[in-house]
Amino acid sequence: MLDNVRIVLVNTSDCRNIGSAARAMKTMGLKNLILVDPIEMPNGQAQALSAGASDVLGNAKVVATLKEAIEDCGLVVGTSARSRTLPWPMLEPRSCGKKMVEEGNQYPVALVFGRESSGLTNDELQLCHYHVAIPANPEYSSLNLAMAVQTLSYEIRMNFLEAQDAKFAKPETATATDVVDEDGEAKYQLVEETERFYDHFESAMQKTGFIQPKHPGIIMTKVRRLFNRARPDGKELKMLRGILASIDKAAAKANKD
Ligand code: SAH
Repeated sequence: MLDNVRIVLVNTSDCRNIGSAARAMKTMGLKNLILVDPIEMPNGQAQALSAGASDVLGNAKVVATLKEAIEDCGLVVGTSARSRTLPWPMLEPRSCGKKMVEEGNQYPVALVFGRESSGLTNDELQLCHYHVAIPANPEYSSLNLAMAVQTLSYEIRMNFLEAQDAKFAKPETATATDVVDEDGEAKYQLVEETERFYDHFESAMQKTGFIQPKHPGIIMTKVRRLFNRARPDGKELKMLRGILASIDKAAAKANKD
């Protein structure tokens, strides 16, 4: 299960933080590190700080965009030291650990960390289903990147150990999670499929004129927030795509007439 947990560091500027994050991960049993467009590639200093976790550092995958890092994930949680102008569904670190473990049993899940200087952008935060903030001192709430990785990885580990204990105590209920429907199909869709839905939604709304490409406003942000909260399953996404296709058709007909 822990192999399904991905730690994603976005645009990190100091590679020593990457080394320390690798160490933090390995102590908690995590090994999948993804670096999105790091400003400084891990060097000797990063190696030194990773200590015995040079394997985690060495196996880190480097990608160009956050989307690439998470497209096959079913759950994405973004981390943030401060609340943003646009409220998003929030998790406590503890419930974040629980969700990661529950859903990590089924598919890849990701925890996304931002830049040392400015955190994650609003666009990046909007790719996430939930946000998590470590409830630190409100007057001084920004942790060092690797320490934030350590804290949230610890919560994942605690929940993982708890789930294992429960499994040994009650084997018949151990694998029961709330992530599959009555047909045994995954209740939640992967990011990649949901992103295709958003693209379709935007293009359909442009065709009807609801979204003006020159002045799109924040309609798509609000749509994302709504559907990230609802987390439509496969059947629901199919229905929504069908609705959009019928709108496409009606718009094409109207344009012709
Ligand atoms: N000045 C930045 C803070 C960046 S700290 C800002 O205001 O957003 C670097 C990263 O560490 C953050 O992007 C986040 O991933 C993580 N982090 C630091 N403090 C955190 C906290 N209290 N809760 C959750 N994540 C935190």
